[in-house]
Amino acid sequence: MNNALLLVDLQNDFCFNGALAVPEGDEVIKVANQAIHNFRRRNQPIIASLDWHPANHKSFAVNSGTQVGESGILNGLPQVWWPVHCVEKTQGAMLHQQLEKEYINKLFVKGCDCDVDSYSAFFDNGKQNSTGLNEWLSGQKIERLTILGLATDYCVKYTVLDGLRLGYAVDVVIDGCRGVNLRPNDSNNALLEMQAEGARLLKLEEI
Ligand SMILES: [Zn+2]
Repeated sequence: MNNALLLVDLQNDFCFNGALAVPEGDEVIKVANQAIHNFRRRNQPIIASLDWHPANHKSFAVNSGTQVGESGILNGLPQVWWPVHCVEKTQGAMLHQQLEKEYINKLFVKGCDCDVDSYSAFFDNGKQNSTGLNEWLSGQKIERLTILGLATDYCVKYTVLDGLRLGYAVDVVIDGCRGVNLRPNDSNNALLEMQAEGARLLKLEEI
């Protein structure tokens, strides 16, 4: 089965000292690099998503007159209000310095439309627009995705769930993920939901 590695949002703003730092976010970079080497050895594609927002993105609390960490509605969709993060072309939006990014075959950006957030690497939250990821994977005849990254309870979760719904077999590398945990169990619950929908939860040593 053709297998691709998908690295979700391994960007500075989600790591230590970043604008939306995920606790222990940096810990996943070494796991990502090991996974990259495994996939390179097998000649299988390595792809990555980038959260890539215009500065006026309305998911930013400051642009919507709301409070960071609270929830509301953005254009009819549930929305958590975030600090300004991953603004396109800024240092915060760049891939983590220690990630061996030279081996990434293809990048997909998301969250580029200021009116809608995009947790999934496949579609915006309203499922109106595709990032091109599904089309690219189809073209490469990929049937299985191995996914890790940030954050477990948002972008990893929605990417995994969309991947399963689109018919991919999905493996989640749990030691390669960390969560925001606005509520303490959010990441654990997200992993259980992914598993219930058909994802396999694996450790790095099992991939
Ligand atoms: Zn974002």
